[in-house]
Amino acid sequence: MPLKLLGYWKAKFSDSYPCPQELEGELAESVREGLASYLENPPLLAGTARPVIRQSIGVSWCRYGCGVANGSTELSDGVWIWPQGLAHYVREHRLARLPEAFLERVAAHQLRQGVDLPVSKGEAPEIDESIWLAWAQKHRSAELEERFEALQAHCQRLAAEAVLAEGMEASLMHGTSNEPCCSEGCTGKALRVDARCGHCFALGQGGQFARAEIEEIAAFLASLSR
Ligand SMILES: [Zn+2]
Ligand SMILES: [Zn+2]
Repeated sequence: MPLKLLGYWKAKFSDSYPCPQELEGELAESVREGLASYLENPPLLAGTARPVIRQSIGVSWCRYGCGVANGSTELSDGVWIWPQGLAHYVREHRLARLPEAFLERVAAHQLRQGVDLPVSKGEAPEIDESIWLAWAQKHRSAELEERFEALQAHCQRLAAEAVLAEGMEASLMHGTSNEPCCSEGCTGKALRVDARCGHCFALGQGGQFARAEIEEIAAFLASLSR
């Protein structure tokens, strides 16, 4: 049985992860605390080691922009798997809604304190994120989705303008020859130092034109909570 992933958040315009802002809600203080501590210290079968399952590539960033380094590993209760920093959203940012089957498991654990829940064992677990994505899809906010689309269009415009400016700068700096640009369909003149025109040259440099997508999304989400 693959581990069921939860608690992954939007990081690219093209991904379908939700934002924690879409899953806020009221919880009784004791329920919130119980959920957060389950997420921090998932119950284990007797004799098993603490399941730090995967070490992710980088430290996770808080989607509310509060600046905490929010963990770089994942934790598991043997059925579900989530990023270490998920408890932070429950404690500090009113995250309340998670897949019902997971919340039921947490509640069952709390009712039967000290009794181990059945967990599936396995060396290198497979991860299934389809449940999280399908569940989250039902809770996404159409309004936020629209604002993401607008933000993406805005970022694309900024990036295109930056390429234009950098292309002109390259043409001025290097000078152009009388040869046509080698890029298919381009009517520009090649630079003296390159077979491409300034614009195609700047495009080829790639990625330096605007802030990275992930930074744009982070800044946008942080602005929501101000
Ligand atoms: Zn935070
Ligand atoms: Zn060109």
